Amino acid sequence: MTKVGIIGAGLGGLTSGALLAKAGYKVTILEQHYAVGGAATAFKRKGYTCEVGLHEMDSLYTDKNKKKIFETLGIYDNIDFVQVPEFFRTKMKNLDFVMPENTKDAISELVKTYPQSEKEIKKYFTTIANIANEMGGVIRMKWWQKALFPFLYPNIFKYRAMSTKDALDGIINNEELKMLLNSNIGYYHDFVDTFSFIYHSLGQNSYFTGGGWFIKGGSQQLSNYLSKVITDNGGEVIKSANVTKIFENNGRKIISYTHKKTEKETEADIVISNTSPMQTYKLANVDFEPVKKVVGNSLITVYIGFKNNVKSIYGTRPYSNFYFKEINSVDTYHENLRKDITERGFIFVDYSQIDSDLTTDDKSFGVFCSVDYLKDWENLSDEEYKAKKNKLAEIYFDELEKDYPNIRDHVEFFEVGTARTMKHYLKTENGTAYGFAPTPEQFLKKPIVKSDLINNLYFTGSWVIGGGFSPAINSGGLCYKHIVKDFPLEK
Ligand SMILES: Cc1cc2nc3c(=O)[nH]c(=O)nc-3n(C[C@H](O)[C@H](O)[C@H](O)COP(=O)(O)OP(=O)(O)OC[C@H]3O[C@@H](n4cnc5c(N)ncnc54)[C@H](O)[C@@H]3O)c2cc1C
Repeated sequence: MTKVGIIGAGLGGLTSGALLAKAGYKVTILEQHYAVGGAATAFKRKGYTCEVGLHEMDSLYTDKNKKKIFETLGIYDNIDFVQVPEFFRTKMKNLDFVMPENTKDAISELVKTYPQSEKEIKKYFTTIANIANEMGGVIRMKWWQKALFPFLYPNIFKYRAMSTKDALDGIINNEELKMLLNSNIGYYHDFVDTFSFIYHSLGQNSYFTGGGWFIKGGSQQLSNYLSKVITDNGGEVIKSANVTKIFENNGRKIISYTHKKTEKETEADIVISNTSPMQTYKLANVDFEPVKKVVGNSLITVYIGFKNNVKSIYGTRPYSNFYFKEINSVDTYHENLRKDITERGFIFVDYSQIDSDLTTDDKSFGVFCSVDYLKDWENLSDEEYKAKKNKLAEIYFDELEKDYPNIRDHVEFFEVGTARTMKHYLKTENGTAYGFAPTPEQFLKKPIVKSDLINNLYFTGSWVIGGGFSPAINSGGLCYKHIVKDFPLEK
């Protein structure tokens, strides 16, 4: 039986592991944390299930690749998903706008607010849809079609090297509108002028056409389910297992790991890594010069337990709320991002607005979240670190109070997870949750699934296609396809 050893139980590792175990491979997955899931986890505090990451996952049913994976693994039958009521709400300097989560309504609401820009708004939505439609063809493109690329895929050809800022400058005139369409850029990247417009189009079009979804009970449900598929199919999931070395002995791969303070080893024919190529090659003691050099940003999250149900006190309100203070354009957003973290815009996600099942009905859970960088939290003593985290949370609450008066009275507890926390739990460079930064230069480079430096080594997770639930899950599907092709099971 072909043995597969997987380093890391994030969504990429779990998805590839579940697909391979179900197909008949002998899977062992090693996860350094005591829970599986990586960024797709939740932790318990005072009766609350604190969702670590997920605000909304795009296109539950409309992404063909993800749909096939979900069907194969029985995810639709075993996990409950809840659709979020709207894409997002943005509060900027002179604007308070709720973005619907379907193209038709989004166009109609945007045209009401920016009637002068009607043509431009329609052009924007047509462009992102065209790019998404062309992408399927580009992925399946044969070598002999390369010369015809500009004719077959004109939108991807036109925008392939463009940042979102440059592309929008060519489509839209209104500066506030450009920023509004980028409100949720933190779901993918930090700066609009270094964000691939192709990635922007694929992501945004996916939310506008397929909706945004939360996992009832938290994303840990999905991670635990994928782990169960592995064990139900004869595989092993070893938690608190920190991989320290990969090497070869008599043609077999050996993975060394520390488990409960004991050094252990497992053997495999194939190794899959759910960690960065940089970390992976270091584990294998192999020199490596990455083709992609820029790593994505991290995120800060304040986890909040509300002792009362926010929706029952404040009524039906938007689920995801971006508070952008003085921001009213991409340029002012960039200025804001360069400031200290205590001054940056942020999002408040109010899980009481959906049937999230994260706590009892009389209470609720919420988060503040913002772009974060490790450098904001380095060189601080323990006291300074704690004080800075608390100060930041208080600043967020001050801003929220303007919109939800006396909201502090309903807070039972809060806890802050920074880029330092992410680095600790995910073991990623810079504490990123997104892999390599999706810049125009990096995003369209061919995903590296199979190592060209070490035989029988494969990659999965956000370092392959990009960050987010869907890309990480789809990278698991891609990794599975490569392995099935390279190591077909005997019938
Ligand atoms: C705060 C936050 C909010 C987010 N919100 C959204 C959202 O709303 N929508 C969305 O689509 N995406 C969101 N994301 C992004 C998404 O969660 C991630 O991009 C995705 O889950 C990453 O999956 P991955 O496969 O790359 O694995 P990761 O989550 O990076 O997990 C990798 C795993 O490998 C393990 N590991 C690493 N090194 C070792 C080792 N040496 N030995 C053993 N184990 C090891 C780690 O412990 C970890 O469990 C969010 C992320 C965060 C942090």
